[in-house]
This record gives sequence, C-alpha cells and structure tokens, in this order.
Amino acid sequence: MSVQDFLSRDAYLDKRFPDISGDAEAEAKRLSVDALAQWRDVLTADLADDDPDCPGPTGRCLAAERRRAVDAEITRRERLSRIGRGVATPADRTYEAWRDLARAVVERVDVAELMAVCGHLLTPAGHNSRRGGPEYSAACPACGGTDRLRIWGGPNGRAWCRQCGWSADAIAIAQSFLPNCRSFRDAVKWLALMVGQAVPR
Ligand SMILES: [Zn+2]
Repeated sequence: MSVQDFLSRDAYLDKRFPDISGDAEAEAKRLSVDALAQWRDVLTADLADDDPDCPGPTGRCLAAERRRAVDAEITRRERLSRIGRGVATPADRTYEAWRDLARAVVERVDVAELMAVCGHLLTPAGHNSRRGGPEYSAACPACGGTDRLRIWGGPNGRAWCRQCGWSADAIAIAQSFLPNCRSFRDAVKWLALMVGQAVPR
C-alpha cells in the first residue's frame, strides 16, 4: 500500500480543493439556523441528483463537503444551546474532553519528530525565525517531488506543500501516514500516548 492510500479524506479534499473544508465551515458559521436547514435541503438534493454535468461528480463532492460542514454546525449549535441551558449531556462532556485533548496534542507533538517516526525522510533547512523553530524539507505525500514539502517543528508545527497546497497538523499527519490512525479519535489517542497525555475513557 502506498502513502497515497493512507491519505485521509480531508487530505484528499485539501489536495483536490485546497480551501473547500475551511470555506464550507466558515460559510456555515455565518448562516442563521433557518438558513442552515434550508441549505441542508438544497445540498441533500444536489447529492441525490445523478446528472453527469450539473452537479456532476465534482459538484456532488463539493455538496458532500458542504453538507458535512452544515451538519457539524447544526450539531455545534444544538450542543451550545444545551450547555447554555445547563443540561450538558455525557456526550457533550466526552466531546469536550476529546476536543481539549486534540488541542493539547497539536500543541505538544513535534511534527518533525512525528514525520520521522512515520518513516518520512526529512532534510534540515535551517531555522524559521517567524515561527521560532527548526524548518525541514521533504517530498510531499500527496504530489511527490523531493523538497517541496516544508515542515515546521516545535509546538503547533505544520507541514505544507508549496506545490499542491497539502497542509497538515500533527493529527492530519497521523491520519495520513498511520494505517491504525485513520479516524480522528484514533489519531488523537495515538498522539496523546506519544507525548504521555491521559486519554479520555
Ligand atoms: Zn504536494
């Protein structure tokens, strides 16, 4: 199996449509509750439409990503409203525990060390003064080459491809490279163990 096969769905979408995930989420956050419900219906219709030209495969792929963002935003608002009314459920608390752990591992895992652990060869490329940490170059897991991927080590590190725009934090890297870390929670759990953080039950 190639590294390409390990690329997560998000990494794939980032590669095909560099800003679609972020754009869809930002768009969903701006909408009223009613507009979200309405937009969800439109996207559901697009997804069910098998017309080869409009929406076509690309349109359906975009609709799927947008509906995912709309669903996430609807869930987020419902959760906020329950917490606001003082009726947080065990599921809300579990969600918060995982969200906090995800933030902690992204802060603590050294991305350069993680990529080395994943078997990806890095070349030191000096010190990045803006980020205050070491910089490395490497081949891109999505589009190849030899040194187009930049990796910034240290806390809150990232990898970014100058060619195709593939961009990943520690969690996305673990999801892309490690076959047992395909899901978000598996990746967070694996990284938490790597830096010695306790994992929520
Ligand atoms: Zn690339």
